[in-house]
Amino acid sequence: MRKSFIALLMGLIVSLLLSGTAVASGSARPVPTGKTALTKNPIYATGEFDFTECKELNRQPDDVDSYKIYLDHLMDCLNLSWGEEFAQAKLPFGKPKVRFITGAARTGCGRYPAGYAAGMYCQVDKTMWILIDKHQLKDPSEFELFAVIAHEYGHYVQDRAGILPAADRATRKASKATAYAWTRRIELQAACFSGAFIGSVWHSLGRDQFDWDDLLERTLGDPLHGKAKNIRYWLKRGWNGNAPAVCNTFSAPASKVA
Ligand SMILES: [Zn+2]
Repeated sequence: MRKSFIALLMGLIVSLLLSGTAVASGSARPVPTGKTALTKNPIYATGEFDFTECKELNRQPDDVDSYKIYLDHLMDCLNLSWGEEFAQAKLPFGKPKVRFITGAARTGCGRYPAGYAAGMYCQVDKTMWILIDKHQLKDPSEFELFAVIAHEYGHYVQDRAGILPAADRATRKASKATAYAWTRRIELQAACFSGAFIGSVWHSLGRDQFDWDDLLERTLGDPLHGKAKNIRYWLKRGWNGNAPAVCNTFSAPASKVA
């Protein structure tokens, strides 16, 4: 998920302030804006992920530190994989900030909605917030955290590539129904980005197909994230495509983003 509406507006202001510095020197191009950012983003023109190795580190039950090390390592993989895609797109890139928490926290987007969200990307503090919950702490082989961090990273990618700022602008003054429709395109794209990354490193994880099938099976839909069958569709589409090129939800028919 990501923090919406008021936070989005705040995020928009912050991103406008920062956009002057987002144009990097050298071969980088300016971050796209408007409709171009959504439907013709240079990130869609990049190839498959180059780095296909991402070993999962061992975790110990109820040992938060071992979980943080595990997640830090996944962040290294994500930074490498996405950094290369941004280089191909000739878009400026930097690593996101990330905070691993086990309960309540104060974020730039307000109080972290513990008990509701497994993770959150906040545009205001440009930080990925990842919740390690007590069920996950009991099961060091669980796969959910992997999926959550890959999804929230997807929102960071959207922010850096100009997609979130453009969507924020499009939803300003929009009706609730229209704003929800835009939010679903954002969320389903993050799902597709996560599927693409997970698929690209899957063979190196030493996991059974069960973990992936289980993730798809447990997927629940809601009005902001889309119907379960559409979330599954975009997760699988990313997984099969191994690249953000297959994740253009902003050009997808309404039925695929319902
Ligand atoms: Zn999300």
